Amino acid sequence: MKRCYYEILGVERTADLEVIKKSYRQLALKYHPDRNPGDAEAEERFKEAAEAYEVLRDPEKRRLYDAYGHDGLKNTGFSGFGGVGDIFSAFGDIFEGLFGFGGARPRSGPQPGRDLRYDLELSLEEAALGKQASFMVGRELACQQCQGKGQKGGADPVICPTCRGQGQVLRSQGFFRLATTCPDCRGDGRVVTDPCPACRGRGRVYQEKELTVRIPAGIGHGQRLRMRGEGEGGSLGGGPGDLYVVVHLKQHPVFERDGDSIYRQLRVSMVQAALGRTVLVDSLIDGPVEMAIPEGAQTGEVVRIPGLGMPRLRDDRRGDMLVQLVVATPKNLDRRQRELLEEFAALGDSAAAPEPEPEAGAEEEAATRKKKKRRWGL
Ligand SMILES: [Zn+2]
Ligand SMILES: [Zn+2]
Repeated sequence: MKRCYYEILGVERTADLEVIKKSYRQLALKYHPDRNPGDAEAEERFKEAAEAYEVLRDPEKRRLYDAYGHDGLKNTGFSGFGGVGDIFSAFGDIFEGLFGFGGARPRSGPQPGRDLRYDLELSLEEAALGKQASFMVGRELACQQCQGKGQKGGADPVICPTCRGQGQVLRSQGFFRLATTCPDCRGDGRVVTDPCPACRGRGRVYQEKELTVRIPAGIGHGQRLRMRGEGEGGSLGGGPGDLYVVVHLKQHPVFERDGDSIYRQLRVSMVQAALGRTVLVDSLIDGPVEMAIPEGAQTGEVVRIPGLGMPRLRDDRRGDMLVQLVVATPKNLDRRQRELLEEFAALGDSAAAPEPEPEAGAEEEAATRKKKKRRWGL
Protein backbone atom coordinates (compact mmCIF):
# COMPACT_ATOMS: atom_id res chain seq x y z
CA MET A 1 0.00 0.00 0.00
CA LYS A 2 1.35 3.39 -1.00
CA ARG A 3 1.01 6.15 1.56
CA CYS A 4 -0.77 9.39 0.76
CA TYR A 5 1.63 11.97 -0.65
CA TYR A 6 0.22 14.75 1.53
CA GLU A 7 0.60 12.56 4.56
CA ILE A 8 4.20 11.72 3.64
CA LEU A 9 5.10 15.39 3.43
CA GLY A 10 2.92 16.27 6.41
CA VAL A 11 1.08 19.06 4.57
CA GLU A 12 -2.58 19.98 4.06
CA ARG A 13 -4.21 19.07 0.75
CA THR A 14 -4.51 22.80 0.11
CA ALA A 15 -0.84 23.51 0.76
CA ASP A 16 0.88 25.75 -1.78
CA LEU A 17 4.15 25.01 -3.54
CA GLU A 18 6.25 26.95 -1.04
CA VAL A 19 4.91 24.92 1.89
CA ILE A 20 5.36 21.65 -0.02
CA LYS A 21 8.91 22.52 -0.97
CA LYS A 22 9.79 23.56 2.57
CA SER A 23 8.39 20.38 4.04
CA TYR A 24 10.17 18.18 1.49
CA ARG A 25 13.42 19.97 2.13
CA GLN A 26 13.17 19.27 5.85
CA LEU A 27 12.36 15.60 5.30
CA ALA A 28 15.08 15.21 2.68
CA LEU A 29 17.64 16.62 5.07
CA LYS A 30 16.43 14.49 7.94
CA TYR A 31 16.57 11.26 5.93
CA HIS A 32 19.53 12.16 3.77
CA PRO A 33 21.70 9.05 3.21
CA ASP A 34 24.79 10.93 4.33
CA ARG A 35 23.20 11.55 7.68
CA ASN A 36 21.86 8.02 7.99
CA PRO A 37 24.55 5.79 6.54
CA GLY A 38 23.45 2.20 6.18
CA ASP A 39 19.93 2.93 7.45
CA ALA A 40 17.54 1.26 5.00
CA GLU A 41 14.46 2.71 6.70
CA ALA A 42 15.81 6.26 6.32
CA GLU A 43 16.61 5.59 2.67
CA GLU A 44 13.03 4.40 2.12
CA ARG A 45 11.68 7.59 3.75
CA PHE A 46 14.06 9.63 1.63
CA LYS A 47 12.78 8.03 -1.59
CA GLU A 48 9.16 8.24 -0.49
CA ALA A 49 9.45 11.97 0.23
CA ALA A 50 11.15 12.58 -3.13
CA GLU A 51 8.36 10.76 -4.93
CA ALA A 52 5.69 12.77 -3.08
CA TYR A 53 7.49 16.00 -3.89
CA GLU A 54 7.94 15.04 -7.53
CA VAL A 55 4.16 14.64 -7.87
CA LEU A 56 2.91 17.52 -5.74
CA ARG A 57 5.22 20.16 -7.22
CA ASP A 58 3.95 19.43 -10.71
CA PRO A 59 0.47 21.01 -11.23
CA GLU A 60 -0.67 18.40 -13.77
CA LYS A 61 0.49 15.37 -11.77
CA ARG A 62 -0.94 16.90 -8.62
CA ARG A 63 -4.31 17.41 -10.34
CA LEU A 64 -4.35 13.76 -11.45
CA TYR A 65 -3.33 12.58 -8.01
CA ASP A 66 -5.98 14.73 -6.28
CA ALA A 67 -8.68 13.40 -8.60
CA TYR A 68 -7.74 9.71 -8.87
CA GLY A 69 -5.12 9.01 -6.21
CA HIS A 70 -2.09 6.88 -7.02
CA ASP A 71 -3.95 5.24 -9.92
CA GLY A 72 -4.21 8.62 -11.64
CA LEU A 73 -0.45 8.66 -12.18
CA LYS A 74 -0.22 5.26 -13.82
CA ASN A 75 -0.35 6.56 -17.37
CA THR A 76 1.94 9.55 -16.87
CA GLY A 77 5.04 7.41 -17.13
CA PHE A 78 5.96 8.29 -13.59
CA SER A 79 6.89 5.41 -11.34
CA GLY A 80 8.93 6.86 -8.52
CA PHE A 81 12.68 6.81 -8.27
CA GLY A 82 14.95 3.85 -8.76
CA GLY A 83 17.74 4.98 -6.53
CA VAL A 84 19.09 7.74 -4.41
CA GLY A 85 21.32 8.91 -7.26
CA ASP A 86 18.24 9.70 -9.38
CA ILE A 87 16.87 11.84 -6.61
CA PHE A 88 20.05 13.88 -6.37
CA SER A 89 20.09 14.54 -10.07
CA ALA A 90 16.39 15.48 -10.07
CA PHE A 91 16.34 17.68 -6.99
CA GLY A 92 19.95 18.57 -6.41
CA ASP A 93 18.99 22.24 -6.07
CA ILE A 94 17.10 21.45 -2.88
CA PHE A 95 20.35 20.53 -1.18
CA GLU A 96 22.50 23.22 -2.66
CA GLY A 97 24.56 25.09 -0.14
CA LEU A 98 24.16 22.28 2.35
CA PHE A 99 25.94 19.36 0.81
CA GLY A 100 27.50 21.01 -2.18
CA PHE A 101 27.25 19.58 -5.64
CA GLY A 102 24.33 17.38 -6.52
CA GLY A 103 23.45 16.93 -2.89
CA ALA A 104 26.01 14.24 -2.23
CA ARG A 105 28.48 15.63 0.20
CA PRO A 106 32.00 14.71 -0.83
CA ARG A 107 33.34 12.66 1.99
CA SER A 108 36.58 14.55 2.24
CA GLY A 109 36.01 15.99 5.69
CA PRO A 110 36.13 14.14 9.00
CA GLN A 111 33.58 11.33 9.08
CA PRO A 112 32.30 9.76 12.27
CA GLY A 113 32.72 5.99 12.52
CA ARG A 114 29.80 3.65 12.00
CA ASP A 115 27.82 2.29 14.92
CA LEU A 116 28.18 -1.41 15.52
CA ARG A 117 25.81 -3.99 16.92
CA TYR A 118 26.62 -6.96 19.08
CA ASP A 119 23.98 -9.57 19.85
CA LEU A 120 24.29 -10.93 23.35
CA GLU A 121 22.40 -14.01 24.42
CA LEU A 122 21.41 -14.27 28.07
CA SER A 123 19.59 -16.87 30.13
CA LEU A 124 16.55 -15.72 32.06
CA GLU A 125 18.51 -16.13 35.31
CA GLU A 126 21.30 -13.89 34.01
CA ALA A 127 18.76 -11.27 33.02
CA ALA A 128 17.20 -11.45 36.48
CA LEU A 129 20.51 -11.23 38.35
CA GLY A 130 22.39 -8.88 36.03
CA LYS A 131 26.04 -9.55 35.23
CA GLN A 132 29.25 -8.29 33.75
CA ALA A 133 29.37 -9.70 30.25
CA SER A 134 32.61 -9.86 28.27
CA PHE A 135 32.87 -10.50 24.57
CA MET A 136 35.29 -10.00 21.69
CA VAL A 137 34.59 -7.53 18.94
CA GLY A 138 36.58 -6.98 15.79
CA ARG A 139 36.32 -3.59 14.16
CA GLU A 140 38.03 -1.07 11.96
CA LEU A 141 39.66 1.71 13.96
CA ALA A 142 41.26 4.94 12.79
CA CYS A 143 44.99 4.46 12.22
CA GLN A 144 46.90 6.25 14.97
CA GLN A 145 49.96 6.84 12.78
CA CYS A 146 48.18 8.99 10.23
CA GLN A 147 45.10 10.09 12.25
CA GLY A 148 42.96 8.07 9.89
CA LYS A 149 44.01 10.11 6.86
CA GLY A 150 45.95 7.36 5.10
CA GLN A 151 48.66 9.79 4.05
CA LYS A 152 52.13 9.26 5.52
CA GLY A 153 52.74 11.34 8.64
CA GLY A 154 49.09 12.39 8.85
CA ALA A 155 49.20 14.89 6.00
CA ASP A 156 45.90 15.66 4.27
CA PRO A 157 45.16 13.51 1.23
CA VAL A 158 45.22 15.27 -2.10
CA ILE A 159 42.06 16.44 -3.88
CA CYS A 160 41.02 13.82 -6.43
CA PRO A 161 41.79 15.10 -9.93
CA THR A 162 39.09 12.99 -11.59
CA CYS A 163 36.12 14.50 -9.76
CA ARG A 164 37.89 17.60 -8.48
CA GLY A 165 37.08 16.62 -4.93
CA GLN A 166 33.33 16.18 -5.49
CA GLY A 167 33.30 12.44 -4.94
CA GLN A 168 30.87 12.05 -7.82
CA VAL A 169 30.99 12.25 -11.57
CA LEU A 170 28.08 12.95 -13.90
CA ARG A 171 27.09 10.43 -16.50
CA SER A 172 24.53 11.02 -19.21
CA GLN A 173 22.08 8.23 -19.79
CA GLY A 174 19.51 9.09 -22.40
CA PHE A 175 17.62 12.07 -21.06
CA PHE A 176 18.95 11.65 -17.56
CA ARG A 177 22.03 12.98 -15.94
CA LEU A 178 23.07 10.52 -13.31
CA ALA A 179 25.52 11.28 -10.57
CA THR A 180 27.64 8.25 -9.81
CA THR A 181 30.40 7.66 -7.31
CA CYS A 182 33.82 8.67 -8.60
CA PRO A 183 35.74 5.54 -9.60
CA ASP A 184 39.14 6.93 -8.64
CA CYS A 185 38.52 8.10 -5.07
CA ARG A 186 35.45 5.92 -4.49
CA GLY A 187 33.50 8.96 -3.35
CA ASP A 188 36.05 10.29 -0.90
CA GLY A 189 36.93 13.29 -3.05
CA ARG A 190 40.53 12.80 -1.99
CA VAL A 191 43.25 10.39 -2.93
CA VAL A 192 46.27 9.16 -1.01
CA THR A 193 49.52 9.80 -2.86
CA ASP A 194 52.03 8.80 -0.17
CA PRO A 195 50.49 5.93 1.82
CA CYS A 196 51.02 5.62 5.58
CA PRO A 197 53.08 2.47 6.18
CA ALA A 198 51.07 1.42 9.23
CA CYS A 199 47.74 1.16 7.42
CA ARG A 200 49.00 1.05 3.80
CA GLY A 201 47.04 4.18 3.05
CA ARG A 202 43.68 2.87 4.22
CA GLY A 203 43.61 5.17 7.24
CA ARG A 204 42.13 2.28 9.18
CA VAL A 205 43.42 -0.73 11.02
CA TYR A 206 41.57 -3.84 12.12
CA GLN A 207 41.57 -4.51 15.82
CA GLU A 208 40.04 -7.17 18.04
CA LYS A 209 39.33 -6.24 21.60
CA GLU A 210 37.56 -7.69 24.58
CA LEU A 211 34.80 -5.45 25.84
CA THR A 212 32.94 -5.71 29.12
CA VAL A 213 29.44 -4.39 29.63
CA ARG A 214 27.40 -4.30 32.81
CA ILE A 215 24.01 -5.89 32.26
CA PRO A 216 21.51 -4.38 34.69
CA ALA A 217 19.27 -6.83 36.55
CA GLY A 218 15.86 -6.96 34.89
CA ILE A 219 16.96 -6.27 31.32
CA GLY A 220 14.44 -7.35 28.70
CA HIS A 221 14.57 -9.15 25.36
CA GLY A 222 15.50 -6.78 22.54
CA GLN A 223 16.77 -4.00 24.79
CA ARG A 224 19.93 -2.21 23.73
CA LEU A 225 22.86 -1.04 25.77
CA ARG A 226 24.98 1.69 24.26
CA MET A 227 28.75 1.59 24.62
CA ARG A 228 29.86 5.05 23.66
CA GLY A 229 32.86 5.29 21.34
CA GLU A 230 33.25 1.51 20.94
CA GLY A 231 32.00 1.39 17.35
CA GLU A 232 34.09 1.71 14.22
CA GLY A 233 36.73 4.39 14.06
CA GLY A 234 36.00 7.58 12.13
CA SER A 235 38.02 8.71 9.18
CA LEU A 236 40.09 11.85 8.67
CA GLY A 237 39.90 12.66 12.37
CA GLY A 238 36.17 11.94 12.84
CA GLY A 239 35.18 10.41 16.17
CA PRO A 240 34.36 6.73 16.60
CA GLY A 241 30.82 5.38 16.41
CA ASP A 242 29.04 3.60 19.25
CA LEU A 243 28.54 -0.06 19.87
CA TYR A 244 25.05 -1.29 20.72
CA VAL A 245 24.69 -4.49 22.67
CA VAL A 246 21.33 -6.03 21.81
CA VAL A 247 20.05 -8.47 24.42
CA HIS A 248 18.38 -11.74 23.44
CA LEU A 249 16.81 -13.86 26.14
CA LYS A 250 17.01 -17.61 25.78
CA GLN A 251 13.87 -19.61 26.32
CA HIS A 252 13.75 -21.15 29.79
CA PRO A 253 12.48 -24.73 30.17
CA VAL A 254 10.37 -23.89 33.24
CA PHE A 255 9.93 -20.16 33.62
CA GLU A 256 8.38 -17.66 31.28
CA ARG A 257 8.66 -13.94 31.59
CA ASP A 258 6.05 -11.28 30.91
CA GLY A 259 7.25 -7.81 31.83
CA ASP A 260 8.33 -8.08 35.44
CA SER A 261 6.21 -11.16 36.14
CA ILE A 262 7.56 -14.69 36.06
CA TYR A 263 5.21 -17.54 35.22
CA ARG A 264 5.57 -21.21 35.85
CA GLN A 265 3.36 -24.25 36.05
CA LEU A 266 3.31 -26.64 38.97
CA ARG A 267 1.88 -30.13 39.05
CA VAL A 268 0.04 -30.86 42.27
CA SER A 269 -1.79 -34.04 43.15
CA MET A 270 -5.53 -34.33 43.30
CA VAL A 271 -5.30 -34.80 47.07
CA GLN A 272 -3.02 -31.76 47.58
CA ALA A 273 -5.43 -29.71 45.53
CA ALA A 274 -8.51 -31.00 47.36
CA LEU A 275 -7.18 -30.65 50.90
CA GLY A 276 -4.90 -27.61 50.46
CA ARG A 277 -1.26 -28.10 51.36
CA THR A 278 1.94 -26.12 51.68
CA VAL A 279 4.59 -27.28 49.22
CA LEU A 280 8.06 -26.21 48.07
CA VAL A 281 8.30 -24.71 44.61
CA ASP A 282 11.46 -23.72 42.76
CA SER A 283 11.73 -20.02 42.00
CA LEU A 284 13.92 -18.48 39.29
CA ILE A 285 16.74 -17.01 41.40
CA ASP A 286 15.63 -17.42 45.04
CA GLY A 287 15.80 -21.19 45.34
CA PRO A 288 12.86 -23.30 46.60
CA VAL A 289 10.16 -21.32 48.37
CA GLU A 290 7.06 -22.33 50.33
CA MET A 291 3.76 -21.95 48.63
CA ALA A 292 0.24 -22.61 49.93
CA ILE A 293 -2.04 -24.52 47.57
CA PRO A 294 -5.53 -23.24 48.35
CA GLU A 295 -8.09 -25.83 49.46
CA GLY A 296 -10.18 -27.01 46.53
CA ALA A 297 -7.71 -25.66 43.93
CA GLN A 298 -8.49 -26.41 40.28
CA THR A 299 -6.28 -26.85 37.25
CA GLY A 300 -5.45 -23.44 35.78
CA GLU A 301 -5.75 -21.60 39.09
CA VAL A 302 -2.89 -19.18 39.67
CA VAL A 303 -1.11 -18.57 42.98
CA ARG A 304 0.74 -15.27 43.19
CA ILE A 305 3.98 -15.06 45.17
CA PRO A 306 4.86 -11.38 45.54
CA GLY A 307 8.40 -10.12 45.01
CA LEU A 308 9.84 -13.25 43.37
CA GLY A 309 9.54 -12.02 39.78
CA MET A 310 11.96 -10.01 37.64
CA PRO A 311 13.74 -6.97 39.06
CA ARG A 312 12.50 -3.73 37.55
CA LEU A 313 14.93 -1.41 35.79
CA ARG A 314 13.16 1.74 36.90
CA ASP A 315 13.29 1.07 40.66
CA ASP A 316 14.64 -1.51 43.06
CA ARG A 317 11.41 -3.46 43.34
CA ARG A 318 10.60 -6.80 41.82
CA GLY A 319 7.60 -8.25 40.08
CA ASP A 320 5.72 -11.36 41.22
CA MET A 321 6.01 -15.04 40.51
CA LEU A 322 2.77 -16.54 39.25
CA VAL A 323 2.36 -20.27 39.69
CA GLN A 324 -0.31 -21.95 37.62
CA LEU A 325 -1.57 -25.19 39.11
CA VAL A 326 -2.04 -28.37 37.11
CA VAL A 327 -3.96 -30.93 39.10
CA ALA A 328 -2.75 -34.46 38.41
CA THR A 329 -4.84 -37.58 38.92
CA PRO A 330 -3.17 -40.53 40.67
CA LYS A 331 -2.53 -43.59 38.52
CA ASN A 332 -1.77 -47.27 39.26
CA LEU A 333 -3.79 -47.38 42.45
CA ASP A 334 -3.27 -50.38 44.72
CA ARG A 335 -6.25 -52.28 46.12
CA ARG A 336 -6.51 -50.28 49.34
CA GLN A 337 -6.27 -46.93 47.57
CA ARG A 338 -8.95 -47.98 45.15
CA GLU A 339 -11.22 -49.05 48.03
CA LEU A 340 -10.78 -45.67 49.70
CA LEU A 341 -11.59 -43.77 46.52
CA GLU A 342 -14.64 -45.99 45.86
CA GLU A 343 -15.77 -45.23 49.38
CA PHE A 344 -15.16 -41.53 48.76
CA ALA A 345 -17.23 -41.69 45.58
CA ALA A 346 -20.05 -43.50 47.39
CA LEU A 347 -20.19 -40.65 49.91
CA GLY A 348 -20.89 -38.23 47.09
CA ASP A 349 -18.14 -36.82 44.87
CA SER A 350 -19.06 -33.15 44.40
CA ALA A 351 -16.66 -32.75 41.47
CA ALA A 352 -17.98 -35.76 39.52
CA ALA A 353 -19.72 -35.22 36.19
CA PRO A 354 -23.19 -36.81 35.91
CA GLU A 355 -22.94 -40.17 34.13
CA PRO A 356 -25.29 -40.59 31.16
CA GLU A 357 -28.31 -42.87 31.63
CA PRO A 358 -28.07 -45.75 29.12
CA GLU A 359 -30.87 -45.11 26.60
CA ALA A 360 -33.36 -47.78 25.70
CA GLY A 361 -32.50 -49.45 22.41
CA ALA A 362 -28.96 -48.03 22.43
CA GLU A 363 -27.45 -51.48 22.13
CA GLU A 364 -29.55 -52.37 19.08
CA GLU A 365 -28.62 -49.10 17.43
CA ALA A 366 -24.93 -49.75 17.95
CA ALA A 367 -25.35 -53.21 16.40
CA THR A 368 -27.06 -51.78 13.28
CA ARG A 369 -24.32 -49.20 12.91
CA LYS A 370 -21.74 -51.95 13.03
CA LYS A 371 -23.58 -53.92 10.34
CA LYS A 372 -23.82 -50.86 8.08
CA LYS A 373 -20.13 -50.21 8.45
CA ARG A 374 -19.39 -53.76 7.41
CA ARG A 375 -21.59 -53.40 4.36
CA TRP A 376 -19.77 -50.23 3.20
CA GLY A 377 -16.47 -51.84 3.84
CA LEU A 378 -15.54 -49.27 6.52
ZN1 LIG B 1 37.32 11.31 -7.26
ZN1 LIG C 1 47.85 5.07 8.77
